[in-house]
Amino acid sequence: MSTLILDGRATRDALIPGLMKRVQALSYVPTLAIIQVGDRPDSTAFIRAKKAFAKKIGIGEKHIQTTETVSQSELIDIIKECNADKGIHGIIVQLPLPIHLDRDAVIDAIEPKKDVDALTAWSVKRWLEGREDAIMPATARGIRTFLKMYKIDLFGKKVTVIGRSMLVGKPLITMCLNENATVTVCHSKTPDLAKETKWADVLIVAAGKQGLIQAKHVKRGQVIIDVGINSVTGEKLDDEIEGVRLVGDVDFEKVSKKVAAITPVPGGVGPMTVFSLFENLVDLCAGMN
Ligand code: NAD
Repeated sequence: MSTLILDGRATRDALIPGLMKRVQALSYVPTLAIIQVGDRPDSTAFIRAKKAFAKKIGIGEKHIQTTETVSQSELIDIIKECNADKGIHGIIVQLPLPIHLDRDAVIDAIEPKKDVDALTAWSVKRWLEGREDAIMPATARGIRTFLKMYKIDLFGKKVTVIGRSMLVGKPLITMCLNENATVTVCHSKTPDLAKETKWADVLIVAAGKQGLIQAKHVKRGQVIIDVGINSVTGEKLDDEIEGVRLVGDVDFEKVSKKVAAITPVPGGVGPMTVFSLFENLVDLCAGMN
């Protein structure tokens, strides 16, 4: 049986007209503020992808970039200005931040009604509770939509999630629980990864470790969702994020020969995450109307 390649770009493209209609139905141009501290090349590339998508669907953006050495209070003042600005409807602080900054304090300075990443304490409580009106972090929301578009139902399935970060792993774990899956969570201290991954119907990998999942970790019939984004230096440029060649956490070549369905990197979860970030913005705007 041939393996189904879950195409994130085609899925996103099929969903764009619906989102554009929602944007056009607003009486103003929804605008996202993207706050970047320093100039990490990966952050710059991710921001470029978000700005390009915003332009494509008629959303405004304001990119605010500070020096790497910005103080905590200076950064929080910038966030407060965005909170007060009626022309800004969503705010993201591009992560990771330099270590001299307190990430939680910075994130919690964002007005919850403009919290597109859903990382403020107010937002986290809501998605943890599984509230229907909660904004869900974009990667988890994007994967939920992705699976639904391919009619892959998580109800009653065994799902293993690798990764437990606040940005990616924990929202994914919660999303799968909310979809009534039975969830196993693995992380860097899990002693026998293959034992936990082979058990699953659906394996979601978000570790940020190139080549972590090999053929020995999977079994026939599984669905593999590769969230990892690892840049391979010194190789050919790729079209998804300009200037960098990307690979996931899964050895695509070997694993794809064995499983039922798999997401590629690039072109899998990444485009769905960007799409869902802007869905979150439009949802926030609808709540503000
Ligand atoms: P993180 O470093 O904060 O967390 C990584 C998690 O993986 C941790 O919980 C850790 O315990 C676990 N882990 C690390 N090594 C492991 C190992 N050897 N075995 C098992 N678990 C291990 O990273 P993050 O912010 O959660 O992001 C994870 C990955 O997802 C990164 O590659 C990131 O670039 C990518 N990402 C992709 C998208 C997308 O849209 N595709 C969006 C956000 C993040």
